[in-house]
Amino acid sequence: MPGGTDQTLRPFLWRAEKMYPDREIVSRTNRGIERYTYTEFADRTAQLANAMTAAGIEEGDRVATFCWNHHRHFETYFGIPTIGAQLHTINPLLPDEHVQYIVENADDQIIFVDPSLLPKLEGAATDAPEFDGVSEYVVMDSEVPDTDLDNVTDYESFIDGHDADFDWPVLSEDQPAGMCYTSGTTGKPKGVEYTQKMLWAHTMMTLTPQGLGIHDTDVVMPVVPMFHVNAWGLPFSTTAAGAKHVYPGPSPSPEDLANLIEEEGVTITAGVPTVWLGLMDYLKNNDADVSSLEQVIIGGSAAPEAMIRYFEDKGIEVLHAWGMTEMSPIGSVAHMKAGLEGLDDAGYMEKRKTQGLMVPGLEFKIVGDDGEEVPWNGEDFGELWIRGPTVTQEYYKRPDANEEDFEDGYLKTGDVVSIDEDGYMKIVDRAKDVIKSGGEWISSVELENTLMAHDDVAEATVIGVPHERWQERPIAFVVPDEGIDEAALKDELLALVKDEYPKWWVPDDVVLIKEVPKTATGKFDKKVLRDQYADASMFEGSTPEDAAPE
Ligand code: AMP
Repeated sequence: MPGGTDQTLRPFLWRAEKMYPDREIVSRTNRGIERYTYTEFADRTAQLANAMTAAGIEEGDRVATFCWNHHRHFETYFGIPTIGAQLHTINPLLPDEHVQYIVENADDQIIFVDPSLLPKLEGAATDAPEFDGVSEYVVMDSEVPDTDLDNVTDYESFIDGHDADFDWPVLSEDQPAGMCYTSGTTGKPKGVEYTQKMLWAHTMMTLTPQGLGIHDTDVVMPVVPMFHVNAWGLPFSTTAAGAKHVYPGPSPSPEDLANLIEEEGVTITAGVPTVWLGLMDYLKNNDADVSSLEQVIIGGSAAPEAMIRYFEDKGIEVLHAWGMTEMSPIGSVAHMKAGLEGLDDAGYMEKRKTQGLMVPGLEFKIVGDDGEEVPWNGEDFGELWIRGPTVTQEYYKRPDANEEDFEDGYLKTGDVVSIDEDGYMKIVDRAKDVIKSGGEWISSVELENTLMAHDDVAEATVIGVPHERWQERPIAFVVPDEGIDEAALKDELLALVKDEYPKWWVPDDVVLIKEVPKTATGKFDKKVLRDQYADASMFEGSTPEDAAPE
């Protein structure tokens, strides 16, 4: 039996404290900008560990957070798992009934909650038996606002007076360290547990240049919420690198983000496309110096070409990344691979737009409808099956879903993808979102990308609507920029699709709307649109007679 310790988070904390005592952690909170160093971070994390132990938290207990991105939330990222308990980040944007379900399902003991999210949590917790197991609420501030909840303390009083040293236990790598529920646009959310080893492996995989390549000189600002798959693991990887952290706090506006980038010298930031649309719009109309930015990590949904070009024109590298809650979460990143230096602009952009190359440590295969593996030719597609040390093997207490979503040690991702000869993965669709017209597939993602490439389109989504003859037909929902000629826009959009795709891909109608409904994690919520527009006869447009696939 070889010696040594298991793969756990503790050494990352140890390294940052010992080797980077003066690097900063900065956050925008309800009290303005707060900053301290890794030294203070480590002290406060130990105080938190002591406070939780005093409150009765033991190895294996679950402790939840209901918070935005800030330094106190970051303290729980190490404080909770490193004593052997489990950090359960709850998405505060979920409907109350989902919050109730997951608090009970996870059996949370303490919930850390932001002052601004307290009313939302109260709404879910009041008279809800699902919350009976919660013994204490800790408000992430130095005082407690008026509340109907019992047993509420503020965070500063909670940790105050506790020792700033903690005798961190030696943990097994199989100890559950984290937990997150998938956004669950259909049915109940599904819990994914992250072991110490999964989080360790994810940190190491994303630290490589083939992942996110974070340096100790970097200043990293995760805009992706810390309640959504550990902000793509950035709080862990940034600590492991000894880099500076910047946390943008509760609901940051594009202006807040631009100010933080400028004032803190942010070099790497990460978030979903919707966030960057807002920032791009702000930067077009305001003078802000974002020249410190070197990389923008875009994931969660496909990054449109116009967005990639916008940042690259400013000399900022876009890392288009793909991942899943089930995968801790990052799976692939669109880096330019050795040997592709000679590509022309179009070829370069083709690669950049893909979801990229798998990070080291993962293996995958693409399985077609017939159960056979699909060739890597960039054309054929099938469902992506994936396995590796960061990929969960099951959902928490959900044997029904486990049967469906795992096979032969692989996670069946539900993403329909093609892989080109160079190994670049392109998401064609979510298995459930692909539109089937006359027995042939239409990729909603491709149509969306085409529509979003139009200058006057802010957002676009395409769904399949039941159709008597063709089973389903695509309908586009578009959020136009303000003040444009709407009729002309519709015609131009239909013409754009006609130019690029077979005629049966052309949507039967383009419906202009004010906002695309979003899920709790900021993805387009097609389910809402599907429920609202359940019948093709509701649309003005029509299916041309020759809309048959050729
Ligand atoms: P979640 O578990 O909420 O992070 O959602 C994971 C799903 O989001 C994946 O299975 C994909 O369908 C989608 N997704 C994540 N990243 C991307 C991306 N870069 N492009 C397109 N879809 C993505």
